[in-house]
Amino acid sequence: MHDFKFKNGELYCESVRVSTIAKKVGTPFYLYSHHTLVDHFTKIKKAFAPVDPLICFAMKSNDNLAVLKTLADQGAGFDIVSVGELKKARMINADPQKIVFASVGKTEEEIAGAMKANILFFNAESLPELDEINRIAKKLKKRPKVALRINPDVEAATHARTTTGTLKNKFGIDLRAAREIMKTRKKYSYIRFSGLHVHIGSQIIASTPFINALKRVIEFVDVLRKDGIDLEYLDIGGGLGIIYKDEKPQTAQDFANAILPNLKRTGLKIVMEPGRFIAGNAGIFVTKALYLKDNGVKKFLIVDGGMNDLVRPSMYDAYHEIVPLKKTSAKKTKMDIVGPICESGDFFAKDRMFPILKKGDLLAIMSAGAYGYVMSSNYNVRGRGPEVIVKGNKYAVTKPRETFKDLVRGESIPDFL
Ligand SMILES: *Cc1c(COP(=O)(O)O)cnc(C)c1O
Repeated sequence: MHDFKFKNGELYCESVRVSTIAKKVGTPFYLYSHHTLVDHFTKIKKAFAPVDPLICFAMKSNDNLAVLKTLADQGAGFDIVSVGELKKARMINADPQKIVFASVGKTEEEIAGAMKANILFFNAESLPELDEINRIAKKLKKRPKVALRINPDVEAATHARTTTGTLKNKFGIDLRAAREIMKTRKKYSYIRFSGLHVHIGSQIIASTPFINALKRVIEFVDVLRKDGIDLEYLDIGGGLGIIYKDEKPQTAQDFANAILPNLKRTGLKIVMEPGRFIAGNAGIFVTKALYLKDNGVKKFLIVDGGMNDLVRPSMYDAYHEIVPLKKTSAKKTKMDIVGPICESGDFFAKDRMFPILKKGDLLAIMSAGAYGYVMSSNYNVRGRGPEVIVKGNKYAVTKPRETFKDLVRGESIPDFL
């Protein structure tokens, strides 16, 4: 499942002892396994081989250049949500014909940038966005491909902040409006309407919501056919759940078995956008114990990483497994594991039975490879730690720790003060 395993009581990433890296780069830091990334990508690729999909890694889950290069070398394309992500994809020479662009708020600069880069298609999310794409295409003399992001109005049975496929969410276009757009598509003379896109949320464990959403979209493909409209692509989004605690998510193969017959029937080129499934369990966040505080009511293990580094527990009530890097026989007791930030929401675990560690002991927050570093901030004027990648017995810092200079770059005090 992943390449973070204990050998002789110590946590390794592939063939490298994690504490060796910690000694070299300091704490806290993020650590990624090359082999796990490749393995997860391959699992999806194999499971869906019968439709030979284009797998566009959702870059917003992890945009580290070494991670992107690893996946591009396996044949991955990228699902981007900003021009910044487009620029990072170009830094690793990603093939623009394997890039798709979703976002409810694409700016003119972003639309023009993606058109000039000649990406595969835009996933358009509203009527006014189509007007904007058409206008910019005319100006640039381009004829971009566009897939309509359909909002199928299904509940994804995940955290309220990671569901995107109901009409209470800001994403996508409802079916009725989509049909109207397609019927009047001649209005958008610079747009090639090439596909449909659906993405109903993230960390989805069961296949039922996917199946329901896909059913609606595939029925819609048939409706369009009857209207005389033929498409080229069906982009089925991402959202595959992973194991953080005791979830029993469908495997890539279960998911494939459940939907392959329907996908094949469409005869369309399938695009997928997995993020978390590939990167989630391919990364950990390593931090150091600072103090054990006991206020008589509760115990708190205070560590040197905070919610600015890994916000998922605060933001989504996310559970992350936490392990000391060195197996210990120290007594376990109930504690909160918290960061140093001035917020009660700054925690990694609540009321967790955890061994009593000493100052300086190292611990790993598991499953931190997706929506980890990418959501970090400099809150409390804290520089981000480095990102490190392991391949076999080699490791390297792929992004260095931020220095104070990085944090105040460009900042100045106006003359009138
Ligand atoms: C976030 C996102 C994804 C990836 O979601 P995961 O849950 O990480 O697989 C895919 N497509 C779109 C449009 C997204 O916004």
